[in-house]
Amino acid sequence: MRRKGILIVISGFSGAGKGTLVKRLIERYDGYALSVSATTRQPRPGEEDGREYFFLQKEQFERKIAENGLIEYACYCDNYYGTPRDYVERQLAEGKNVILEIEIQGALKVKKQYDDALLLFVMPPSAAELRRRLVGRGTETQEVIEKRMRRAAKEAEGIESYEYIVVNDDLETCVEQLHGIIAAARNTPGRNREFIENIRTELEGEKS
Ligand code: ADP
Ligand code: 5GP
Repeated sequence: MRRKGILIVISGFSGAGKGTLVKRLIERYDGYALSVSATTRQPRPGEEDGREYFFLQKEQFERKIAENGLIEYACYCDNYYGTPRDYVERQLAEGKNVILEIEIQGALKVKKQYDDALLLFVMPPSAAELRRRLVGRGTETQEVIEKRMRRAAKEAEGIESYEYIVVNDDLETCVEQLHGIIAAARNTPGRNREFIENIRTELEGEKS
């Protein structure tokens, strides 16, 4: 019996290394699909439409909301971000573990709709290292970095809503740990209800 994949929500402060981690996870292990979000923010140098994000105008994004085309959306630092519904549903049905790399408001909305979703929070080893990574990435102005650091302090209040934290200190160690947590979560009874029910029915049939 092919099992449905699980929905994995990965959140964490901007600059903690979520994008880097997820990219490495998908390179190293099979069976994952990464959902590409829609956003109204400007592409960063090197980002491509349809690869990192679907870059939309505000009006286009609002149309998607109206058509119920998004599983969730949120406003983050003055821009809209949202998860297209079709791709996620299709990949889950094909047995893939689908990763959503989204912020906390979106994560909580996903958990309400998909109670089996696995919520993971990526932490930097320290706040100073977080700032170093944000500065080192070189993609944001000083003003935006300050905004994201303030936002991180706010987001830190919500960490207990997640099932696991993973600390992104050494990248490869963290990728292995992430994969291990996902593999274990896939085997909880709650995420295998259909399989368990099938076995129960078979066992009933075996009774003589
Ligand atoms: P996020 O997606 O969480 O905003 P990124 O993946 O863009 O973060 O990472 C932010 C910066 O930190 C990037 O320049 C990236 O190369 C760097 N980085 C990511 N993981 C590590 C790590 N384990 N050690 C050192 N630097 C890292
Ligand atoms: P960035 O601008 O750095 O790419 O992303 C900013 C924040 O938006 C990150 O915390 C990222 O996880 C979050 N984000 C990206 N896509 C989505 C989405 O589809 N929905 C929500 N709620 N957050 C998202």
